[in-house]
Amino acid sequence: MRLIITEKNSSAKKIAEILSGGEAKADATYKVPFYTWSDGEGQQMSVGLKGHVMGVAFPEGYSNWQETDLHDLIDAELVPEPTDKNVVKAIRKLAKDADSIVIATDYDREGELIGLEALQQVLEVNPGVAADASDGEDAGAVLAARPPIKRARYSALTKDEIERAFSQLDELAYDLAYAGAARQDIDLIWGATLTRAVSLATRRFGSNFLSVGRVQSPTLALIVERELERRAHVPKPYWEVFAKFAHPDGAFEAHHETDKFWERAEADAALKGTTSPGVVKDVTSRRNTRRPPAPYNTTAFTTDASSRLGITPASAMRIAEDLYMDGFISYPRTDNTVYPRSLNTRELVQSLARIPDFAAAQPLLDGELNPTRGKKETTDHPPIHPTQALYPSALEGAKRRVYELVVRRFLATFAPPMITESTRADIQAGSESYFVRGSVVVDPGYAAIYTYARSADDEIPKLEQGQTLELEGDPWIVDKETQPPARISQGKLIELMEERGLGTKATRADIIQKLYDRGYVYSNPPEPSETGIAMYKAFHEYVPRMATPEMTAELEHDMDQIAAGETTKDEVVTISREMLHSTTAALEDQREVFAKQIWAGMDEDKFLGPCKVCEEAGRAREDGSPNRLRIIDLKGGKRMYGCEGWNRDDPESPDSCQVSGPLPGRGYELWRLEERCSVCGERPRLTVKGFRGRPWKLCLNDDCPTMVEMREKRAERQAAREAREVAKAAAEEGGDSAEPEGEKAPASAKGTPNGGRRRAPRKKPDPGTKRTRRARSSSKR
Ligand SMILES: [Zn+2]
Ligand SMILES: [Zn+2]
Repeated sequence: MRLIITEKNSSAKKIAEILSGGEAKADATYKVPFYTWSDGEGQQMSVGLKGHVMGVAFPEGYSNWQETDLHDLIDAELVPEPTDKNVVKAIRKLAKDADSIVIATDYDREGELIGLEALQQVLEVNPGVAADASDGEDAGAVLAARPPIKRARYSALTKDEIERAFSQLDELAYDLAYAGAARQDIDLIWGATLTRAVSLATRRFGSNFLSVGRVQSPTLALIVERELERRAHVPKPYWEVFAKFAHPDGAFEAHHETDKFWERAEADAALKGTTSPGVVKDVTSRRNTRRPPAPYNTTAFTTDASSRLGITPASAMRIAEDLYMDGFISYPRTDNTVYPRSLNTRELVQSLARIPDFAAAQPLLDGELNPTRGKKETTDHPPIHPTQALYPSALEGAKRRVYELVVRRFLATFAPPMITESTRADIQAGSESYFVRGSVVVDPGYAAIYTYARSADDEIPKLEQGQTLELEGDPWIVDKETQPPARISQGKLIELMEERGLGTKATRADIIQKLYDRGYVYSNPPEPSETGIAMYKAFHEYVPRMATPEMTAELEHDMDQIAAGETTKDEVVTISREMLHSTTAALEDQREVFAKQIWAGMDEDKFLGPCKVCEEAGRAREDGSPNRLRIIDLKGGKRMYGCEGWNRDDPESPDSCQVSGPLPGRGYELWRLEERCSVCGERPRLTVKGFRGRPWKLCLNDDCPTMVEMREKRAERQAAREAREVAKAAAEEGGDSAEPEGEKAPASAKGTPNGGRRRAPRKKPDPGTKRTRRARSSSKR
């Protein structure tokens, strides 16, 4: 029997369907599905893993954070550990009867490692498939020489591609797998050691630990460095001058030829020198040709999904993987930006252009199809492209938009350039000169199908040289000031990570998500919390190696060398351990000062904004700055807020501030939205986010119009729900109004209109349900 091992059940099923012509039978062992059929080559079986089913872990005896010496931890020999026991058991059971193996995991470094992990399980129970395979690195060479173990490499779960891959079976790339294994070891050792070191130093244990990661920390640095630049920015005032000219087609505004006046007096002089009428001195037009975009690699795709669709890189990758698993698009993890010759582009364009949504691609079929080419050409995966023509409406929500993006981008790479015409007219008015600029699309070209790229027309009236135009009203000045550099969007962040070799196309989006999960950043685009900034600063000062991307880039380079057979996994991991010993020792030497910095950041994150009551009462902190409201952690995960002007020793004193109130518990993430609510102006306003669902806004002033409205909406929804339940219960009881006393519902929440009315038993609404949270978020303005 030939056993085909894939990365996921969905691909095992798809491959079985394709190779058996729909004849494969499904069965399961240890709750893991597998598929069997027979063909000309005999009995066949396919089974899917769940990604990595084996991981590495520290051996027993290293789990106590306080008692384990970090240097022992660094040198501990890692042990393989099943991450999914059922899958491992199933593979071992099925492998016993196999006389040949095909590894058909995803075609990349991670997929190669996953395949090797599975193969090691197979060989333990069935060494017969590779007669004299021994442990260690040389096993690769031995195994590679054995015909019964093969590798299927495919880039799409389509009939053509799978049939091609299985007719051209290859060998497992052992060095590539070892490169993946080296990174896995290094990530575990570095992550665990430094996370423990920092958590020990700051005495943060349990769920509050502070994580550090080989890639995570330099990524945080990118966000923090930009924030520090923003904070250091000193706005500089400047002035712009405009004038309005009358025209038969309608009056229009023109900008002074000086872009920015840095001196107010100069702007005033420009106003004085402007006299009516203006004379058109010059009109120039220019055609601009914008080339169609290159085929999609992962970075360009996630950047586009973020900027054009507003879908975060992590979600975009999840959705793309689903679409790949469904056989709708090609493998979404790729650096390649050149379509391979083997791709039948004409057939694909033809089938896509038949879908009404993509009918704009029809004219492409009239001529030759010449796709654009990007800078990088690799041979593993093709650029991301659709593999099946679908009506987008067959997909739901974000999936539909992502599929459409991939299709439109694909079609755009065959389309002609977009041609626009821009016109500039210069108008002399007295001693001053003004200009007006417009732009129109002459031929949308690729933007007809790749609609996201189409720029809006910005037309100006018809102007001719020598034409005189009366001023309409007086010219005017607009006060402006220079802006700090913008925050880095998630899409841009992924690009920066790629430039610096941080993470891989497979991990970048997840790493950004981790920064959110640990509270180092919040909001979108990501903004660092004070804790995140303190982590960055402390690392920069005491463990500079971890705050910069260089070390990680070096390691990524080493991985490539392992994959190329130029060095070994052991060598790379050993060097990495040595670096970590010195890094850890440096951190331990400085633990006290280090911890103080982090604590200061955490404390800072608890302050929400100045207390208005104290301000009005003239109470202030010692340095004269206003007392602030802050988050206070209580026992059992509860939280409240209070004023730092509260006097613990003499709470009743007139100098003690009484302002306080409840806050959502620690199951919710809280962050400052506004130091003082922009609606009521009374108290700070927070953003609250539960485990699931959309964030909502909470003003600490109960009487704030936003809160009143939120409570009304919530009550309305609850009343509507109760009315539905009453109706449903009445229908079920067939109109019988008798209700046992004991089943009466508990007193309803304050403010519900039907608190006294008889109704069907129901649970008290959980404040965390999707519906109530949606009610809250929809009631804010
Ligand atoms: Zn106060
Ligand atoms: Zn408010």
